[in-house]
Amino acid sequence: MSPGRMIRKLNVFNLVFFGSLLFITLTALPCYAVRVGVSRSEWLLFFGYVIATGLSVTVGYHRLFAHRSFQASRLVTFLSLLFGAAAFEQSALLWSSQHRDHHLYVDTERDPYNIKRGFWYAHVGWILFWRHETDYSNVKDLAEDRLILHQHRYYPVWAITAGIVLPLAIGAATGHFMGAVLLGVVGRLTLVHHSTWSINSICHTFGKATYDIDATARDHWLVAFLTNGEGYHNFHHRFASDYRNGVRWYQWDPSKWTIALLHGCGLASKLHRVRPHAILAARVAAEHQRVERELGRQRHPSGTALLETVRQRYAALKNALEEWGRVEEEFRRLRKATVETSRTYLHSMRRQVAQRRLAFVEARRQWVALINANPLIPRAAHI
Ligand SMILES: [Zn+2]
Ligand SMILES: [Zn+2]
Repeated sequence: MSPGRMIRKLNVFNLVFFGSLLFITLTALPCYAVRVGVSRSEWLLFFGYVIATGLSVTVGYHRLFAHRSFQASRLVTFLSLLFGAAAFEQSALLWSSQHRDHHLYVDTERDPYNIKRGFWYAHVGWILFWRHETDYSNVKDLAEDRLILHQHRYYPVWAITAGIVLPLAIGAATGHFMGAVLLGVVGRLTLVHHSTWSINSICHTFGKATYDIDATARDHWLVAFLTNGEGYHNFHHRFASDYRNGVRWYQWDPSKWTIALLHGCGLASKLHRVRPHAILAARVAAEHQRVERELGRQRHPSGTALLETVRQRYAALKNALEEWGRVEEEFRRLRKATVETSRTYLHSMRRQVAQRRLAFVEARRQWVALINANPLIPRAAHI
């Protein structure tokens, strides 16, 4: 089998392993909770492990290893590998290789969790019923790290130690061994697995296409809530190198906040942010494309005149955004320049930036008013 290809083959181990986890979570776990009750230390173990393993996958496996969206200290790398292994989602090297293929070949046969093969295939079918040949040539940068390579080679040891032995030892030490089995291992594994997989299924099926209307990836707030912010998947596919997924201040993205916190503590550096103007440009371009598409579908007699107005207003909006971006870029360049720039000139530049920003805000207000208030524009295109 050539690299990147896959064949239909039942993976008995995965079927038994993931099937048993789900079965026990749905039967023995509720029975235990009702009959015995869940103590505070069991809840602490459960949530502690859900958070530690969940963040190790989102911050570590995904944003640090697969996308290199920031750099981390050795301590952060080690903890991401340790608790990432405890999540039982394969080694960081294999996970990253498959994830880089997902981005590069999205929605094609070489995408390991290709949504075009169906919702359940993208969720878990690809793990249970298919065998994938992984081509590690896309993770050569990661393979240079001896710690990452060690976790890959001895993955079962890392996973069993951090994911089973450690929580059970904590359970035994606190006198809640059975609670540790059911909550610290089985229940939290089921929760973290299905949350992670929901990115590949729910976020490639339901939600908003805010930045790229042709992508199957969607922004879904509920999945973002369950996955430490990974649900803003339309943004992520459009700007995969950005360390943020929930790019707006009010969006739920604990992974972004964790990376910012690590940065504040000196444990992370070189956080990659896409320029705000590039993000805004993608957003308004998506809004424009959606209106064009909806009006094209409608074929109303007044549609052609309206389309012309939409195009003019969009051109004005785009122009205002580009002007703002250009002046702000120039201002930043001058502020950083080694050559002394006069304070008066910098002050006038700052004023120009503010004026261009206001011009964009006004152009955007007119754009939103045109789209949302015109009865000929369908609700599907509203902003
Ligand atoms: Zn995706
Ligand atoms: Zn990604």
